[in-house]
Amino acid sequence: MRAKKTAADEMIRGPRVESAIDAATSLLGFDDARSPRNLRDPGELYPKPPFEKQTQPWPGLAGLMTPRPDHGEESYRGSGRLLGRKALITGGDSGIGRAAAIAFAREGADVAINYLPEEEADAKEVMTLLGEADVNAVALPGDIRDEGFCRKLVDDAARDLGGLDILVNNAARQHARQSILDISTEDLDWTFQTNLYALFWITKAAIPHLQPGSSIINTSSIVAFDPSPQLLDYSATKAAILNFTRCLAKQLADKGIRVNAVAPGPFWTALQPSGGQFPDHLAEFGADTPLGRPGQPAEIAPLYVLLASNEASYTTGQVFGATGGEVGP
Ligand code: NAD
Ligand code: MG
Repeated sequence: MRAKKTAADEMIRGPRVESAIDAATSLLGFDDARSPRNLRDPGELYPKPPFEKQTQPWPGLAGLMTPRPDHGEESYRGSGRLLGRKALITGGDSGIGRAAAIAFAREGADVAINYLPEEEADAKEVMTLLGEADVNAVALPGDIRDEGFCRKLVDDAARDLGGLDILVNNAARQHARQSILDISTEDLDWTFQTNLYALFWITKAAIPHLQPGSSIINTSSIVAFDPSPQLLDYSATKAAILNFTRCLAKQLADKGIRVNAVAPGPFWTALQPSGGQFPDHLAEFGADTPLGRPGQPAEIAPLYVLLASNEASYTTGQVFGATGGEVGP
């Protein structure tokens, strides 16, 4: 329902502006372009805890989660912000990496995704969506705990995409353990190799491909600022990624390469039911944030788009949070 016009309205808008608003209103299919119907209460946008109890074997599949995460499959609308750009995204099959892949493609970027062979079902869904966005899409499965594979991954991505100018280091291992006494050396190696060593190897391999204007985006976490007691090894890697980001940004500034990080709070992704949380915690996942629910991957993809785009040209060495209101960066 349109608000009643006042005399002041008439003076400010005048009849021509009024008719332009009416035209826009009918073009957009709204009853009234000034109506609040596009306002969304963030707390009510998505499912809230309690969630159904669920576990999956590592590395987990988004397709088997209840409810299924929203990666922006139906909602993300691009506007050409990354037209012609070439991106490699690790962990691009599911969760935050999948949301970034969908958003990048709809912004016009060619996208290569890396994932584990066990995640082929999730990766296939992403490849279909990237194909529908009418960009060049490349699937490069393999285990990034292997330095040789990391080098090959970057070279294959650059070859198949015809260059590389966006690198999203996003793959990670998170495994909840009650105590430091329960973390084996094998666990520690697994977490550090996936989250830190691979990030180092992939970044090192990528730099020779990156021209001025390129962007590296690392995925840190709120636990870099407020570590979870049950995620001792994981939290340490996420804090190290923050420091790595700030340091590398200084190193690469004179090459015209920006380096930033995103710090998510609790997000509803396959990482969580496949060992990332204890099952009891997962049922209440996100309940203790001010918004009272976990984030959905679709809600963080815009930060990756912004950090990749030329619009963020003065932003490097920074961390952007999406935490549902918890104190972050
Ligand atoms: P996800 O499980 O959907 O994505 C993680 C991906 O990492 C997997 O899909 C897998 O492809 C990849 N991966 C793991 N080990 C690998 C290996 N050895 N080789 C190759 N790929 C491997 O979960 P997500 O939550 O979207 O995670 C994405 C990023 O977000 C991670 O860096 C994670 O630490 C970070 N993060 C997540 C949350 C959250 O609550 N979900 C919070 C803070 C930070
Ligand atoms: Mg996955």
